Amino acid sequence: MSDHTQESPLTEPLMVADHLALDLLNTEAGVGAARVDFWQSGNDVLRWLERCGVDSGLVADQAAKDALLVEARELRAIGRELVELRKQGRRGDPGRLNRYLAAMQSAPLLEWGDDGPLLARQRPTPSPQQALGLVAESLADLLARGQFDYVRQCEHPDCVLWFYDRTKSHRRRWCSMALCGNRHKAAEFRRRKLSA
Ligand SMILES: [Zn+2]
Repeated sequence: MSDHTQESPLTEPLMVADHLALDLLNTEAGVGAARVDFWQSGNDVLRWLERCGVDSGLVADQAAKDALLVEARELRAIGRELVELRKQGRRGDPGRLNRYLAAMQSAPLLEWGDDGPLLARQRPTPSPQQALGLVAESLADLLARGQFDYVRQCEHPDCVLWFYDRTKSHRRRWCSMALCGNRHKAAEFRRRKLSA
């Protein structure tokens, strides 16, 4: 067995899915001993939302961060279940996802610019709840309108990452060469987390 201790560990999930809802699932990676959950704290979730361009407002309170971690992990678990069922052509229960959607404060908004009227949506006041609502909406949109032939998992047997194949030929096979080539880094990260 080779020694990978000189490799720098992977500390953030790779945003390789080409779809917000699938990037959500990919905040967990690896299988067996190499399994890693990149969300170990509310700050991890906040950082991920920021990378996705989703504003969650200012969250300073520790209790709010802890609650965000729990809610975000729950949303991810719901998403994984529904995406897998949809992929298998089976029916899922949308009730738990609808709870996140119902929390959204987003009304249609008519804007009248120089080029005429435009139907937009009101941006909700940023908060953790609204941020997760936006992620949930992306998930619902994928389930309802996504082309599931293009929703696939990386072909590497030890890789569980999802992606939306937007390539012209639709022959994408891997989450990313860099990630599958460097999966040992994730294991390294996990070991570091466990010993922390
Ligand atoms: Zn992969």
